[in-house]
Formats: sequence, structure tokens, C-alpha cells
Amino acid sequence: MSDTDFLRLDDSQFSEEEAHVRDSTREWVSKEFMPRLQEHVRQDGSFPMDLVPQLGELGMFGANLDGYGCAGMNNVAYGLLMQELERGDSGLRSFASVQGSLCMYPIYSYGSDEQKNRWLPRMATGELIGCFGLTEPDFGSFVTGMRTRAERRGDRWILNGTKRWITNGSLAQLAIIWATTDEGVRGFVVETDRPGFETRDIKGKFSLRASVTSELFLQDVEVPDENRLSGVEGFRGPLSCLTQARYGISWGALGAAMACYDEALGYAQDRIVQGGALASKQLVQEKLVFMLTEITKGQLLCLQLGRLKDRGELQPVMVSMAKRNNVDVALRIARDARDILGANGIVDDYQAMRHMVNLETVRTYEGTHDIHTLILGEHITGMRAL
Ligand SMILES: Cc1cc2nc3c(=O)[nH]c(=O)nc-3n(C[C@H](O)[C@H](O)[C@H](O)COP(=O)(O)OP(=O)(O)OC[C@H]3O[C@@H](n4cnc5c(N)ncnc54)[C@H](O)[C@@H]3O)c2cc1C
Repeated sequence: MSDTDFLRLDDSQFSEEEAHVRDSTREWVSKEFMPRLQEHVRQDGSFPMDLVPQLGELGMFGANLDGYGCAGMNNVAYGLLMQELERGDSGLRSFASVQGSLCMYPIYSYGSDEQKNRWLPRMATGELIGCFGLTEPDFGSFVTGMRTRAERRGDRWILNGTKRWITNGSLAQLAIIWATTDEGVRGFVVETDRPGFETRDIKGKFSLRASVTSELFLQDVEVPDENRLSGVEGFRGPLSCLTQARYGISWGALGAAMACYDEALGYAQDRIVQGGALASKQLVQEKLVFMLTEITKGQLLCLQLGRLKDRGELQPVMVSMAKRNNVDVALRIARDARDILGANGIVDDYQAMRHMVNLETVRTYEGTHDIHTLILGEHITGMRAL
């Protein structure tokens, strides 16, 4: 594997424990996950569910949370974990992000002790899988128009609505559903076997094929008030979960970029064109230099974010910059890598194109590239763009 630690972060910036998390995750992904990936990519939207107990055992779910069977690692170790999962495939990192950042985190942060004890330990092992229902067919970037409704009936709630583009929707036993109520937006933990809860998988995806994406239909689904996340009100709830997931994505996208760089470099060194290695051509070197430079800059961005997060000083707008930048450069790196591979780059014996199409989703979900531009633009100018 090529060296992407150009600035020697290993010697001076990552602790032994952080490096160990990275290296052991990389090993697991390459030994256990990669041999299984192609069959799932070739199927239309599926995930190797038999690996989930191993993911749980290795502490990959809610890894930066404390207690309840979670690994309690710091945020740099957690970021490196995300990087290595996405070096495998964005679908694998998405699985862990949704479980940890979007489902365990809100229960951990806004749930009652009873809710935490009831659900978190079994989510940490992967016995219970969660999904996060925020996006709706008509509202993605601007969920303020959300139509899913929860009506209070005494000590119970009746939920109605449709959620679309929900990762792990049909695999989940628990859904975190965000809905409007007379009191504003509220979050509910909905067991997916409740009457009136149905799912339908979205087929025909070119991207994130090794991941299940579903629609959720809620028709008069009844939950007790004890399933409401009582510790948060309004859009702060879902947005704070998204900040957690976007943080992981910032690291994860670099993992995909590293896989592409590694593949392109190796290929260019071996491939002979016009009597010389492809890697000896100036235009190819320019692409490789771009890749390594952007990976290195992206890592520094993430590292500083992680240290700030550990000190409780992270601001969501900082995460916007990292998510926007790192996914963008990862996508450009994947495209360049695919280009260097020539015709071989379009078949799934090679990784670059799979990462490239995956990264198209990563660019769109968790706040699109342009939405993060608008967030940063408003932060800089104090003016909301029209
Ligand atoms: C594979 C996959 C998995 C997903 N998993 C989940 C999940 O688990 N849970 C969940 O809740 N959601 C999930 N999503 C949904 C995702 O978060 C949304 O797709 C995303 O927020 C964008 O919303 P949209 O698709 O409705 O696009 P739109 O909001 O319609 O945006 C379309 C385009 O318009 C641009 N745009 C929008 N508004 C503006 C503006 N004001 N100015 C300029 N440009 C603008 C956007 O940047 C984008 O380029 C997933 C999506 C995918 C593809």
C-alpha cells in the first residue's frame, strides 16, 4: 500500500491508540469486508448483514460514545475508524455512521436513562439496527417543510407521513423519526414492527450499491410518549445528529480518496505506454501530486477538527467546511484515478469507479456540497444568500 502520510502525522500527531484503531480497522476491512463487497455491489442494494455482529464486537458502532457497551474512543480515533471503513466502501461507512451518529447519538444525548439502557447496549453490538428518518420525498435540503406529523393522544402519539432515501430503512428494528407536532419538531424512536409501519427499498441505484436505501411509510403508527426523545426540541435535534455524521464523513471521504490514489499509483507504475511506465508521464504525475496534496490537506483539516471536538470546541460550520472540501476533493481524486486506469477503470475489478459513484451520493447526502457552501457563505458574510 502506498504511503499517504506525507507529513509524518504518525510520528507526531496520532497517539499509539489512534494509530492502532486505524491499522486494525484497515486489516479487518481488507480481510473480512473486501472479499464480500463485489457480490453486494453487483446485487442491487444489499449489505453483508452477517458481518454486523463482528462490527459490533470490534466496537465500530457508536465508537465515540461512552458506556452502554460503546468503545468510548476519542474523536480522532473515531475519525480514523471512519476513514478506514470508507477506504473499503462508502456503504460500509454509511452503515456505521447511521447506526452510531444518527441513531445511537440522539438516544445517548436526548433520551431518558430508561431509553438509553433499553436500546443502546443492543445497538452497540449490532443486535438492533437503527435508521434515521428525516428526508421526505418533497423535502431534502430544506426539511423545514417536513410533512410527517405526530399527534398527541393522551400519553400516546400517532405518526403519519413518508420518509425517503433512508439508509438501512428495511433492515432496521428501530427508526428515529423526526416529525412536526403542535409543539414543534420532535424526535421519536419507532420500533419498525409497529402496525402501520412499512418500508420499500429503492432500486436501480448506480451509487452506494452495497447499502440498503429505503422509503418509510407511517400510517397511524402509534407509539407511547416514552418513545419520544424528550431532551431536545425543534430542528436542533436532527441537525445536531447531522453534525456528528458529517464529522465522520469528512474523515471517511479521505479513506475513499486514499484507496483511489493507492490504486492509481500502483497501476501507473506497472502500466507501460509508449515504452515507459505511465507513472513517468508528466500529466499523470500532475494528477498523482494533486491527489496526495489534497489527501494531506484534508487529513490536517480533520485532525484539527477532531482535537477541537475532543475539547468541546467544535462548531457545526467548521464541519461544513471539512465535509464540503473533503468530499469534493475525494470525488475529483476518484475521477482522476479512474482516468489513469483507462478502460480497466470502468470494470469492478478495480475500485476507483465504485468510489467515484459512491462519492456522488456522499456529495449529496448530509447537506449537499452547495448547501454547505451557503452555510459557510452566510457565516462569512452574515448574509443569507437568496
Ligand atoms: C443513498 C442515499 C442515502 C441517504 N440516506 C439518508 C438517511 O439515512 N436519512 C435521511 O433522512 N436522508 C438520507 N438521504 C437523503 C439526503 O440527505 C438528501 O438527498 C439530501 O439532503 C438532498 O436532498 P434532495 O435529494 O431532496 O435534494 P434537493 O434538496 O432537492 O436539492 C437538489 C439540488 O438543488 C440544490 N439546492 C437545493 N436548495 C438550494 C438553494 N437554496 N440554493 C442553491 N441550490 C440549492 C442542492 O444543492 C442540490 O444540488 C440519503 C440520500 C441518498 C442518495
